[in-house]
Amino acid sequence: MSDLRFKSVEEATARKAVKVELPKERVEAYYGKQVFNRQRMFEYLPKETYDALVCAIDNRQPLGRELADSVADGMKRWALDNGARHYTHWFHPLTGSTAEKHDAFVEHDGKGGVVEKFSGKLLVQQEPDASSFPNGGIRNTFEARGYSAWDISSPAFIVDNTLCIPTVFVSYTGESLDYKTPLLRSLNSIDKAATRVARFFNPEVSHVICNLGWEQEYFLVDEALYAARPDLVMTGRTLMGHESAKNQQLEDHYFGSIPSRVEAFMLDLELEAHRLGIPAKTRHNEVAPNQFELAPIFEEANLANDHNLLLMSVMEEVARRHNFRVLLHEKPFAGINGSGKHNNWSLGTDTGTLLFAPGKNEHDNFRFVTFVANVMAAVHKHNGLLKASIINATNAHRLGANEAPPAIISMFLGSAVSGILDRVEKADSISKITIDGKEKITLDIAQIPELTLDNTDRNRTSPFAFTGNRFEYRAVGSSANNASALIALNAAVAAQLEEFADAVDARVAEGEDRDHAILDEVKKLIRDSRPIHFDGNGYSDEWKEEAARRGLDVETSAPLMYDRYMLPQSVEMFEKTGVLTKKEIEARNEVKWEMFTKKIQIESRVLGDLAINHIIPAAVRYQSLLLDNVYKIQQLFKGSKADSISAQDLANIEAISDHISAIKSGVENMVNARKHANRIESEREKAISYHDDVAPFMEEIRRHIDKLELMVDNEIWPLPKYRELLFIR
Ligand code: ADP
Ligand code: MG
Repeated sequence: MSDLRFKSVEEATARKAVKVELPKERVEAYYGKQVFNRQRMFEYLPKETYDALVCAIDNRQPLGRELADSVADGMKRWALDNGARHYTHWFHPLTGSTAEKHDAFVEHDGKGGVVEKFSGKLLVQQEPDASSFPNGGIRNTFEARGYSAWDISSPAFIVDNTLCIPTVFVSYTGESLDYKTPLLRSLNSIDKAATRVARFFNPEVSHVICNLGWEQEYFLVDEALYAARPDLVMTGRTLMGHESAKNQQLEDHYFGSIPSRVEAFMLDLELEAHRLGIPAKTRHNEVAPNQFELAPIFEEANLANDHNLLLMSVMEEVARRHNFRVLLHEKPFAGINGSGKHNNWSLGTDTGTLLFAPGKNEHDNFRFVTFVANVMAAVHKHNGLLKASIINATNAHRLGANEAPPAIISMFLGSAVSGILDRVEKADSISKITIDGKEKITLDIAQIPELTLDNTDRNRTSPFAFTGNRFEYRAVGSSANNASALIALNAAVAAQLEEFADAVDARVAEGEDRDHAILDEVKKLIRDSRPIHFDGNGYSDEWKEEAARRGLDVETSAPLMYDRYMLPQSVEMFEKTGVLTKKEIEARNEVKWEMFTKKIQIESRVLGDLAINHIIPAAVRYQSLLLDNVYKIQQLFKGSKADSISAQDLANIEAISDHISAIKSGVENMVNARKHANRIESEREKAISYHDDVAPFMEEIRRHIDKLELMVDNEIWPLPKYRELLFIR
């Protein structure tokens, strides 16, 4: 086995950057080439079809059957012209990744040959054999099959000669079985609610669009080294491995130049991304060795999220071309930073206003303060739920560790915005003055200095930070589907905005001045949601205590966090906004608990196997070398001299024995804990048992293995070490 280790190190070290052919044309020429975007639609669809489709997309209307036939025909011709031979409904099951089932375009032509066919029916609806996707019992209960249907707001695209049609995945009884369906519902609800409030300030607003700019962090590992680490192959993270002497303390990776092999990979990835219409924009090294980031320009949230999911799968493919494996796991290596996916989240009106951006006058700033206060209130009310939306077996490793987001949701506002909110809270009345015949409010908030990054957020310890014209939700995990976080966030903010608008409308109905009513309601929100606001160091222990005192959610166990979805206030909020029904929430929680159990179960099995079959044999081999040495010393030297010469070896032999027996009993106890957990019927209780009873053994076993790694002869150690895995040249 150690042969494999050294061979893989040699192979990885010898590797050169793979050459990437740069296209001759400029980016505009190939950007979105693999996407059936409006330009292609215009080219391939009859004029009436094009107009009707664009109208349906813009007004979020369903596609009629006749229209679907015509669209399908044009889409098929475009796809065939561009090398596609298959098509698939591309959907986002609750496993968190993407799924597809490929069908060829061919149909019998009735004359013994085939024709290439693709009807509107196939475009609009398909029945994937969905029984193998997690559904939390929805399909069993309702004895209904699932079907997938085109989400016309996200254009079809071609990957690997396959036409991919972004779809929602629902049961026949209408329950969502995916992430996209509730995401779309949440976008609808926030559009409705935010439009209502935005119209208080500008009656011309008719829609509010939710934007998402994600920043994807990831690790790269050479494929030969990856193959020599069964834990990476099977779980996406290292289950053992002592920190290398040098890791990220010098911060030299962050500021260093990108290694040439990685640069080639990034270039290739960007080319692919641009062909797929993903607006990849920045790339850089991250804090940990071998860690990198890619961020696009922000887009409408549903499209942005599709792009993120697509990019994650393209990344894996491109990485292989460069003899890398990409690790999207939140914590592939202990002791160095993990990976997240910052979600830059904002709301913009169809009239071109970013609702979280301060303006140049009091009126705009009144609107700004109103929206910020509502977000504060929503995040405060649902801070536990928001945490539940981002926590899982993999992200839990990252949260609460001494790096990026603590396992407490709080909100950073920065001194400028905090000061404004303080002033608004204290403003006791609103006066109106008339300028140029127009009535204006005076709130003493006319002068909001331009909020640059310098006076907003350089505090990287906050999980939810205001950054100038948006909020940056940093607790999302690198491997996650952003939709999980966005569904909860949008629904919570939508519910809050509706409540706010109701309160204002009620006061106006009773004859109160609207601006006055808004100001008074905003003041209440600022006052009541104070506890969520925290600009200090989120990593400190004092904050944990302070947060608990403030009544914020400080739970860290993922299986227990999922209970937050079932809180009466969560269910009410999801049902009111039409984002999720109680039945759906229950079913999705079942899936979450099941996924949690499976992840830990697999890790625990892999760790047990490696410990018994790789680590202990290596340790025993080294131990017997030492024993042999002691024996020979005893032969050559006699008495106390022999004892003093072999003292160190004897101590090592004993220490190795201790670690070996600790590992053995740890594995035995872990297996027993698993057996016990596996007998539990309830998914919730089972997940809790995996969290409380099984997982701690993994830490314990690892500790002993990592100690052995420091003692055993380097030549004998079977697995590539951190220092070998982590430094791409
Ligand atoms: P950082 O300092 O965090 O790297 P950047 O300016 O590079 O900040 O932006 C990070 C991400 O935020 C990018 O994807 C960018 O497109 C996105 N972003 C910028 N403005 C907005 C906005 N108003 N709404 C949503 N995302 C935004
Ligand atoms: Mg950022």
